[in-house]
Amino acid sequence: MHKILHNVPLAPYTTFNIGGPADNFIVFDKTVLQNDFIKPLFILGGGANILVSDRGVRGTVVYMGEWTGWGKSSRGGAEARSICIKSGTPIEPLVDDLCKRGIGGLEFLAGMPGTIGGAVYMNARAYDKEIADILIETEVLEQDETGAWTQKTISRFPNDFSYKRSPFYAPPRPRVSSSSIILSATFKTYVASPSELIAITEAHKQDRTDKGHYRYPSAGSVFKNNRAFGKPTGKIIEELGLRGLQIGGAQIAPWHGNFIINTGNATANDVRELITTVQVKAKAALGIDLEPEVLFVGDWD
Ligand SMILES: Cc1cc2nc3c(=O)[nH]c(=O)nc-3n(C[C@H](O)[C@H](O)[C@H](O)COP(=O)(O)OP(=O)(O)OC[C@H]3O[C@@H](n4cnc5c(N)ncnc54)[C@H](O)[C@@H]3O)c2cc1C
Repeated sequence: MHKILHNVPLAPYTTFNIGGPADNFIVFDKTVLQNDFIKPLFILGGGANILVSDRGVRGTVVYMGEWTGWGKSSRGGAEARSICIKSGTPIEPLVDDLCKRGIGGLEFLAGMPGTIGGAVYMNARAYDKEIADILIETEVLEQDETGAWTQKTISRFPNDFSYKRSPFYAPPRPRVSSSSIILSATFKTYVASPSELIAITEAHKQDRTDKGHYRYPSAGSVFKNNRAFGKPTGKIIEELGLRGLQIGGAQIAPWHGNFIINTGNATANDVRELITTVQVKAKAALGIDLEPEVLFVGDWD
């Protein structure tokens, strides 16, 4: 029987380094399914795209961070050269490892914090590519009303994915139950020269470093881009003169309009207030609605 921990602070499990406690916390492996989870469930990957409330999370946080590893797969046809990756695998070391072995396809994710499960859930994108471009299928666990878990294969249907949308995350109605656990994802890959792949990933990582991604705790871009706005959201926020704006310990990065950073002692409420302030100012000045990309998790007002 797996150990359920109680009152576990979640800040160390997030890249914002912010967030109150989980009432119940369990590290996932398949044996945990024998447990009667206390609902609701929240599935936690690398915590790189979430803002956890200061009051924390009721129910049970299922932490995927120890469900890691990958292997070659025959899915997608004999010539497809696919790989199957467990969802808790951290993206950054995974991509480095694949590139060293001459396995191409995921290099656009280089330097991205978080796990493969979170990347599939969010249809993560970078450098003009997104997860949906390489995804073949996902294995998921779903729980029915009786509490029984079933494992399912979900093939990628192109219409299920769009900008920062997947069958798992398509508010208000995801195609797959919102408490499904993504177990693994299978991706198309190709054979390439390790040195060429490494050169690409190093360039991406350098670009992220130059853009200040790793200077302070954050969750990456706070707002989604929207083509209808004609320019990136970060540029809009910059032109509104909001770079550097600070509430409590949360600040709009002085060098990047779409990053909110934790300068050291930010609360989740500080970050949320800053998000709301930017939305109100953008609406008042330009009549546009900025949609947060960061997910609000836990017990909010
Ligand atoms: C510095 C920085 C740069 C970033 N750059 C980018 C970028 O270029 N492009 C981009 O798209 N994102 C970017 N991000 C955001 C983040 O890295 C990605 O969204 C990442 O894919 C989130 O993965 P995660 O494991 O951290 O997900 P989490 O934040 O843990 O969770 C996000 C959502 O996914 C769900 N989830 C996670 N794992 C599972 C699972 N196994 N089963 C079911 N649901 C699951 C969670 O329940 C939650 O709803 C950046 C973040 C940072 C901090």
